[in-house]
Amino acid sequence: MTSHPAASAVPDVMLNNGVTIPQLGFGVFQIEPEHTREAVLAALETGYRHIDTAEMYGNEKEVGQALRASGLPREEVFVTSKLDNGYHAYGDALTAFARSLDDLGTPYLDLFLVHWPLPGVGDYVETWRAMEEIYRSGRVKAVGVSNFQPHHLRRLFEETEVVPAVNQVEVHPYLVQDEVREFDARHGIATQAWSPIAQGKVLGDPVIAAIAVRVDRTPAQVTLRWHIQRGDIVFPKSVTRARVEENFRLFDFELTDEDMAAISALDRGERTGPDPDTFTYTG
Ligand code: NDP
Repeated sequence: MTSHPAASAVPDVMLNNGVTIPQLGFGVFQIEPEHTREAVLAALETGYRHIDTAEMYGNEKEVGQALRASGLPREEVFVTSKLDNGYHAYGDALTAFARSLDDLGTPYLDLFLVHWPLPGVGDYVETWRAMEEIYRSGRVKAVGVSNFQPHHLRRLFEETEVVPAVNQVEVHPYLVQDEVREFDARHGIATQAWSPIAQGKVLGDPVIAAIAVRVDRTPAQVTLRWHIQRGDIVFPKSVTRARVEENFRLFDFELTDEDMAAISALDRGERTGPDPDTFTYTG
């Protein structure tokens, strides 16, 4: 496969250590391992150059197979994975990271995240110290966190050295997360918006549907464009090729300030996933 010209349409975001990440990527949560290779290949053929996986998703091996099958040089694709909840202890985190590299079949990751803070377990500071060691080893270009609230981040600032490069949290029009996003921005942390279309739940919203009709785009494109104009990093998931392509066509139209405000006003604090302050690991 040759490099897809459309890949260059995606803007880069610069992280706090100078590493750049494509603002639009492809997420593989809830893609069965047997469908992952095909889905990731479809994304790479479309022009996506950023894949978001996790140990928890059980499909790192198949993501790695797709990366190799694409024929793309490793350095052309930004690859993120995440530390699973059962491996927060210092030594376990180091071992789990090495296993992710093995499963993905790559000598390095672009980004490695602590998947959940697990405040009930209460060991995320120790986990972050392991992430710092992994970062210093040179086998990952950047380290970050996921589902961290400002108070979790404050503890890291007080007790550890490396400021996370990203915070990946649930964000969509029904959960705009401005408090977390503003906190992240104030501390030089890029926000990644997971479940950017709320797993489809926002697509029937009349406000989004009306804007979509006016700009002659789909509700998914309007929602993803709203994220892009807010500056967040997104990676919608789809196993449907037409949607994979649709979700990539975000860079030849713009929403007005009024559109942006109308979508942001849909906020109702509604999560599709767990609350980071109460979600814990039960083994
Ligand atoms: P998304 O908001 O990306 O929605 C995915 C769902 O929407 C799928 O059912 C898909 O269907 C459907 N869909 C996708 N595109 C369209 C479209 N254009 N029109 C209509 N329906 C569409 O949800 P995810 O939860 O997957 O979030 C995206 C990524 O975020 C994940 O894959 C993962 O990488 C990350 N994530 C991280 C979490 C964390 O804790 N850090 C938690 C959850 C997600 P179909 O596939 O059938 O086409």
